[in-house]
Parts: sequence; C-alpha cells; structure tokens
Amino acid sequence: MNKLFNSEIDLKLRLFYVLAWTGCIANTIGYVSNALLYGLSAATLFPFFCALIIYAASAYGIHTGKTRVPALLILSICNLVEFPVLYCLYGPYRLSYMILGIVATALFLEDAWRIAGTSLLMLFDCMLIIWKMVRPDFFSAFVVEENLLSAVITFLIASGSIISMLTILLRQYAQQQKCMQQMTEDLQLAAHLDPLTRLYNRRYLTQYLTDKISDGEVTFAVVLLDIDNFKQINDTYGHMFGDEVLQSFSQILLKHMKGHGIVTRFGGEEFMLVFNSVDKSSMQQILSQCASDFNLFGLSTKKRPMTFSGGVAIFHNEDMLVKLFNQADERLYEAKHTGKQHVVYE
Ligand code: GH3
Ligand code: MG
Ligand code: MG
Repeated sequence: MNKLFNSEIDLKLRLFYVLAWTGCIANTIGYVSNALLYGLSAATLFPFFCALIIYAASAYGIHTGKTRVPALLILSICNLVEFPVLYCLYGPYRLSYMILGIVATALFLEDAWRIAGTSLLMLFDCMLIIWKMVRPDFFSAFVVEENLLSAVITFLIASGSIISMLTILLRQYAQQQKCMQQMTEDLQLAAHLDPLTRLYNRRYLTQYLTDKISDGEVTFAVVLLDIDNFKQINDTYGHMFGDEVLQSFSQILLKHMKGHGIVTRFGGEEFMLVFNSVDKSSMQQILSQCASDFNLFGLSTKKRPMTFSGGVAIFHNEDMLVKLFNQADERLYEAKHTGKQHVVYE
C-alpha cells in the first residue's frame, strides 16, 4: 500500500499500482457477487477468467516495474472484452462499467493516446449500444435475467472504483505537492548557504540587508573580518587544515553572535557580521570573545596563535549597500596596515 503514495517511485509506476489495485479489487468483488447471485454459471466464470488475466498482468507489472504492456492488457481486457460482454449478457446497468473503463483509460493513457483511446472506446461502446437496441434478437439467446441486487452491486462497484481511483490520485498529488514544496525550500536554502562553513553566503547577505532597509530597520552595523596570514596557514598545514580553520572560525562567530545578528561568509577567508545594534561596547565585547576563542583554537591545534582583523561600518539612512561595504573594507584595510589582530571602528 505504501508504494501507492511513495512519491520517490516513478509516477508511471504509481499510476499502474492504482490501476492494478482498483482492477483486481473491483473484479474480485464482481465475480464473487456474481457467484453468490447466479451460482457457478458461464456468466460467473467469464468475469473470473478475466480477473485471472488482470491479476497476472498486475503481478507482472508490479514485480518487474515494466508497466506499459500489462496496463494496456488490463485496459483492453476490461474495455474490449469483459465490460462489453457483461453489457450484452446483463443489460443496461452494465453501462456503468463501460463508463468506468473509459475513465480509467483517460487517467492512464498519455496525451495523444488518451484522446485516441477514449474516442475509439466511446465509438465502440456507442456502436454496441446501438447494435443491441436495433438487433435485440441477436442477443436474446445469451441475455441473463437482470437481478435487482446485481444491478445495485454493479452500480456500487463502478462508482466505488471511480471514487477510489480519484481519492488515491488526489492523495498522490497532495503528497507530490508537499515534496515539491520541501524541495523548493531546500533549494532556496542551499542557494543561500556556503557549502564549506554552512554560513549564509554573500547572495543571502545582500538580500537580507536590502530587505532589512526596505522594512525600515535602519539601525545596524556591519563588520568585515579577515583571518590574518591565512595563506601562510594554508601553505604550512595544507588546504584541508585551512578548511578546518574556516569551519571552526565560523562556529566561533556563530556562538558569540547568537541573539546579536547574523554571520555570513563574504568570500575566501573573509566574513561579514551584521549587528542588530550599533552599540560599540557590545560589539567590542563580542569581537574580543571571538578573538580569544580563535586564538585558543590556534594554540590547541597547531600551538600557534590565530588572529583576525576587522573593519566596522554603521549604516546611515542615506547609505547604499555598496558604500557600507566599502567603508567596512577600508577600515579592514586600515587594520591590516596597522599591525593586524584588531578591529577598526568608526
Ligand atoms: P592577510 O593577513 O593580509 O589577510 O593575508 P592572508 O594570507 O590571510 O590573505 P591572502 O589574501 O594573501 O590569502 C588568502 C588565502 O585564502 C588565499 C586563498 O588560497 C585562501 N582561501 C580562500 N578560500 C579558501 C578556502 O575555501 N579554503 C582554503 N583552505 N583556503 C582558502
Ligand atoms: Mg582576504
Ligand atoms: Mg587574510
């Protein structure tokens, strides 16, 4: 049953499961009720043999995953053999089976095949109806007396099958929608994250700040940080360790920025923090905690201090983002040229 709603399974295969399930269940109910109402007559054995073919085609399709031929076989047996014969034997109530067959064909054939298949079936069924009306004497030898209970059961099987098919298909559709929504959210998140550090990337930063400004949140500051002598770290200990440094530095920044703003990877070994307040002493405190943890990380892993430099820029109402970033960059540059290991404020 899980296979019916598992959206990881190919859509064609899931549609085949729906056809096979409804085909098998409806046919079983059909010939069992016929047997109870009419005994083991030819009119009961006939739908039983059709059901055997449908069981075999369903089992083959489900087992092998090759659904085209078995689906066509099930639709052909029902539409061209079983339902027309039942109509000829029992009379007009069996028209509901013929409608069920056309609905199933419309659901399971694709595009041009759907139009061609259903049109031919409608034509075939119409001709049969007309033939039976015009030449009743031809059919009189096989006609079975219609039974009230049998007519009701026929109606229930046909409408029950259509309702089941639609319910399963609608549930499959809802499930698919949920998966698509999840995938869209995952993709959006992936587009906003840096794969190495799992921090927000520059694309997200720009969007975040643009939204922030357009929402009227104009009290914030950005800090551009750059790890000191990172090239030397890479050259001395290898790029893999360099990556580890970037990851650990990211974790340190995240830990201390929690509740104060966001952390983003600006590019390479440069990071940009967005502080939700412009209070200098609070920024200084957080940045010195980051510096102390980063230094400890360097000492504990390679017995050498690790440091960073930074430049702060406070947003002013008339500012453009480019101007803000340039200001932070200029102050970072100043920090780099005045001994590194410190942050330059406004
Ligand atoms: P400064 O103190 O002036 O900032 O010098 P620096 O060596 O830190 O700066 P520089 O710009 O000379 O070198 C930055 C290095 O960062 C060069 C580049 O190969 C390395 N880098 C950039 N991105 C990555 C990355 O994702 N992983 C690793 N391992 N290295 C990276
Ligand atoms: Mg740099
Ligand atoms: Mg650097």
